[in-house]
Amino acid sequence: MLSADFGKLDQEVEMINKSEADWFHLDIMDGLFVPNISYGFPVLKAIGKKAKKPLDAHLMIVDPDRYLNHFADVGVSYLSVHYEACTHLHRTLQIIKSLGMKAGVAINPHTPVNTLNEILCDCDFVLIMSVNPGYGGQSFIQNSLKKVKKLKEMIAERGCNTLIEVDGGVNFETGAELSRAGADILVAGNTIFSAEDPLLAIKQLKSLNSPGKAI
Ligand code: ZN
Repeated sequence: MLSADFGKLDQEVEMINKSEADWFHLDIMDGLFVPNISYGFPVLKAIGKKAKKPLDAHLMIVDPDRYLNHFADVGVSYLSVHYEACTHLHRTLQIIKSLGMKAGVAINPHTPVNTLNEILCDCDFVLIMSVNPGYGGQSFIQNSLKKVKKLKEMIAERGCNTLIEVDGGVNFETGAELSRAGADILVAGNTIFSAEDPLLAIKQLKSLNSPGKAI
């Protein structure tokens, strides 16, 4: 939703409701963990009221433990925190789950997937950042494909059900490559909101190679 027109938020939410997208992806930035500030609880509440699909909140904030219950309160179903922002990641994931949400860990482009060795099966999903977090509309970092493949292998070796979400620079080309590499969930902003026909763009993203999801 970072790429949506907030001047007509209701219509943008309605468009996603009508579309084949599965979730609403909400980027929360605090101006500390990332250089940008996005939006906070009043906006989330407004989106949550109209949204007919699950909310997937991606926290790009320091010390996210302070706010986990607030995200549950506004109706978030999928909540990811950054590996780089959590001192006690295992505890944070347990709290998210105890609040009734699915727990995800996001990793920045420089963070290797191996770092998740000891925590992988505790994650309902892992979010691989394929751009440096902070802004919409950036171009895709190719190395992310290798990370998706490696992570898929790690998940298969362990036999757990962790899903792979990829966020940043997702378009029809990178989306197809990511689906082939094993991504389960694709986050798309600009590709949808700057398309002439956003509903068609979502339909096309959904039809890429795998049962992946477009948001
Ligand atoms: Zn995101």
